[in-house]
Amino acid sequence: MNNMMTSRPTQASVLEFSQDMIPVHGYIDVKIPIEVMWEHFMHPNRWNRWNDCFFWALNSKLQLGEQLIWCFQPIRSWFLYKMPAIAKIIELQHEEKVTWEVTILPGFYARHTYYMEDLGDGTTRFGSWEKATGWSFRLLKWFWIPHFIFVKNRSLAGAKVLEEVYSQKGVLHEESLPRKNYWRLFLSLILVLFLLIGGSLGTWFYSSYIHQTAIKLAPGIDAVIGGGGNSLVIAADKEVTIIDPKFSPGAESLRKWVKKKYPHKSVTQIINTHYHYDHTQGNILYPNAHIYAHRNVPDLMRERDGEWWEKHESGIPQGNYLVNRRDTLTVEDKKVENKKTENKKIENKKIENTQLILTYPGIAHTHGDLWIYLPKENIIATGDLLFNQYYPFFDLGKGGISIPNSISAIRKIAQNYPTATYLPGHGAIATSQDFLKFADYLDFLYNNVGKAYKNGLSEDEAVKSIDLSEWNLQILPSFHNGKLTWAKAENNIRWVYRMFSSI
Ligand SMILES: [Zn+2]
Repeated sequence: MNNMMTSRPTQASVLEFSQDMIPVHGYIDVKIPIEVMWEHFMHPNRWNRWNDCFFWALNSKLQLGEQLIWCFQPIRSWFLYKMPAIAKIIELQHEEKVTWEVTILPGFYARHTYYMEDLGDGTTRFGSWEKATGWSFRLLKWFWIPHFIFVKNRSLAGAKVLEEVYSQKGVLHEESLPRKNYWRLFLSLILVLFLLIGGSLGTWFYSSYIHQTAIKLAPGIDAVIGGGGNSLVIAADKEVTIIDPKFSPGAESLRKWVKKKYPHKSVTQIINTHYHYDHTQGNILYPNAHIYAHRNVPDLMRERDGEWWEKHESGIPQGNYLVNRRDTLTVEDKKVENKKTENKKIENKKIENTQLILTYPGIAHTHGDLWIYLPKENIIATGDLLFNQYYPFFDLGKGGISIPNSISAIRKIAQNYPTATYLPGHGAIATSQDFLKFADYLDFLYNNVGKAYKNGLSEDEAVKSIDLSEWNLQILPSFHNGKLTWAKAENNIRWVYRMFSSI
């Protein structure tokens, strides 16, 4: 835990050196004495009267250390949103500047400064400066940059409005500025609500299903969770092996991650745990890699997802790399140890091999699964034999699942490797207990739906009569052939019901 010793960089310093964007900056000189301009500017609840980027603001006065709460107008007047915002005032210098920071959005950090400078002769320079960083900022940059530019432009135009009012009336009172229509407020509040719900749904969706997290399981061995099926990345001397390289866009993120972590190594081996697109479509990003899979996989790809694989032949595993029942791959790793004597450095080369044992469990999640065991590290990549804490998908087509076989395969592996670290096809790193619990879930589901079917219940009646809530599983989406489906309690019951009714 060396990290504990070094302090993390602050968000402010991350922002300072961030290359995520060039600050959005601009200023304008107006014929208003700085004390008049500043006094007027100090009241955020009046901003919407002269600055068209603001719809509304709560604060009646700027106060250092306080939260500023307001709502932006949309960047085009016909866009149906008002964007709520909250920021902390972290700098406030009289007749000079105010800065606030936005930290409330996940993966987003921004600073916005409005400043003033007395140019003498009753003229004031008014400027706006803004910069942001973070993963969610980068993801939504196409929105944020135009928004920042909108805020800057409207703010400077607003200063011009103030100049005109001041030149006509000689003062900047609240009453001297046009009133805003508030009858639209209720409508807008409803829109704000929609936006909030939409935003949090988006964030939840991103962090649950698209965001990837790398977890080091052993030296040179990382699990990359999320963004499709989970992946295992095994690095050797010069080469990298990937188990399940995901699908687009997660596959590209994984490749970037590998490239960044191992700039001088190339991906030479891929193992597919089964043919499903979310584990295999990323194969095509590594044209020079040998692709290992169970021998049924190429046919399943062509029969079940032919349209896609016809255009991406290079990603289909071939010939010598097809596994029948069991195969062992050896990844050779020469570790260099430096030992220093008085004057010279002695290099000791040690060969440390990582073995990957690829085993076909019989018909299980599909007719062509492999699970992979790393004996030295005691790690097992289960593929979709395990959905850890998620409702599973069942492949009901030709070459698809056998639930009873899955259950016995899982129990056998879990019993034989009780202390192993399990990387599931979906969900977090697991133990043999989690693996067994998943088998129990499949058992419960299969038995109860089977009973309902044999008792003459319809599919809808089976859905109503079987309660899966005690299993506490999360839902999982699948985007296949442009269709979105969800693995959820109701669908699990329906899919198993259809297995029984199609026999
Ligand atoms: Zn699968």
